[in-house]
Amino acid sequence: MSKLSIRDIDLTNKRVFIRVDFNVPLTEDGSTITDDTRIVATLPTIEYALRHKAKVILASHLGRPKGKPNPKYSLRPVVDRLRQLLDRQLGESVNVAFSPDCVGEVALELARQLESGQVLLLENLRYHAEEEANDAAFSKSLAALAEVYVNDAFGSAHRAHASTEGITHFLKPAVAGLLMEKEITYLGKALEAPEKPFVAIIGGSKISGKIDVIQNLLDKVNTLVIVGGMAYTFQRALGVTTGKSLVEEDKIDLAKETLAKAKAKGVNLLLPVDNILADNFAPDAKTQPWDTSKNFPADWQGLDIGPKSIAAIEEVVSTARTIVWNGPAGVFEFPRFAVGTNAIARAVAANKAATSIIGGGDSVSAINQAGVADQITHISTGGGASLEFLEGKKLPGVEALTDK
Ligand code: AMP
Repeated sequence: MSKLSIRDIDLTNKRVFIRVDFNVPLTEDGSTITDDTRIVATLPTIEYALRHKAKVILASHLGRPKGKPNPKYSLRPVVDRLRQLLDRQLGESVNVAFSPDCVGEVALELARQLESGQVLLLENLRYHAEEEANDAAFSKSLAALAEVYVNDAFGSAHRAHASTEGITHFLKPAVAGLLMEKEITYLGKALEAPEKPFVAIIGGSKISGKIDVIQNLLDKVNTLVIVGGMAYTFQRALGVTTGKSLVEEDKIDLAKETLAKAKAKGVNLLLPVDNILADNFAPDAKTQPWDTSKNFPADWQGLDIGPKSIAAIEEVVSTARTIVWNGPAGVFEFPRFAVGTNAIARAVAANKAATSIIGGGDSVSAINQAGVADQITHISTGGGASLEFLEGKKLPGVEALTDK
C-alpha cells in the first residue's frame, strides 16, 4: 500500500480523529441497534489506537438526517454497544464519552479533557449540511479536535466529504486504519498483481450499473462470468430472444461491444448456458429449466441460472487463484431463485487456494446465508466504494491519505 497506515505513526498521548463507519441499522424509533457488524469491523483499529495510548475521537455519519439534528439518526445508542464491545476486547473497562455535536465548543472541550486510552464518540456528522458539501470551514473545525487523522470508513471513501477528504487539508498525517488498509490491499492487489487464473463473477440486475467494472476487469481477468438479470441483455446481443426477462434494450449494442472486446483480449466470457424460467415474477411462480441456446417462450422470464451453468461456474472457480465476485446470479430474495447465487457462494468458499474477494451487499448476504463467510479471504465492507475501486476509479477518501 502506498499510503501511510496507523501502524506507521506514533499515537502516544495524541488526540486521534478516526473516521469510522457506524452507519448501523436501528429500530424505527432510532433507540436500538439491530446489527452491529459495522462497529465490530472497525474494532481492531480502535483497539490498536487505545493500546498505543491514543486519545480516541470517533466520527461517523448515520442515515440521512439531511443536514439538521434529528434524534432518529443519533449515534448516542452506539455508546453502550461500543463500550461493551471494547470492554470485552480489551479485558478492562473503557471510558466512552459522547459529544452531542461533532464540532464547536462542547466537542472541543470534551476532546481537550480526553486522556490516553479514553474514547469520545461525536454525534452524527450529517447533522451538518457542511459535511456532505465538503465545506472548508467545517472541515477545519473537525480538524481542530485532533492531532492525527485516521480513515477507517472504506464504505464512505468514494465520497469527498468533510470528514473523508476536506479534513485532510487541515490535519496531517492522514493515515489509513486497519480496516481501510485491508480493503485497499486486497482490492488493490486484485487489480494490480492478481495471481492467475483470475476469475471475476459479475451479477445483479442491470448492465448499466456494472459496465464500468466489466470494462476495467476485461483488461485483468482470464475469465469473466456474467450472471443475473444483466445476462439476458448479453443473450439478446447473441440473437436469442429472452421472453419477459429483464433486458435493457438500449444496452444491447454495448453488450455486443463487450463480447467483441472480450474476444479480442482473449478473455473467456462465460454466460449462463441454462436458466430457470418463471411464468411470473413471484416467489411461488411456476418454473422450468431452459437452455439458453433456444429462444425463450414469450411469456416466461429468467429468474435464476440453471444447473448446467452452475456446474460450468464451479469448474472455472475451482481452478482460480484470484476470485472477485459482485452481484447475485438471480432473484435471490426469493428462496427458490437463490440456488445459483448460493452455489456460487459455496464454490468460491470451497477454493482454499484462491484469494477470494466479495463486494456488494447482495453477494455478502449470500455468503452469510451459505454460512461460509469465514472461508472468504476478504469481504468488502463498502458496496459502492468497492465497485468504484474495481472500476479503476480513484477514491477521494483514499487519495487524500498521506503517501508513505
Ligand atoms: P444490483 O443492485 O445491480 O447488484 O442487482 C441486484 C438485484 O438484481 C437483486 O435484487 C436481484 O433480485 C436482481 N436480479 C438478479 N437476477 C435477476 C433476474 N434474472 N431478473 C431480475 N432481477 C434480477
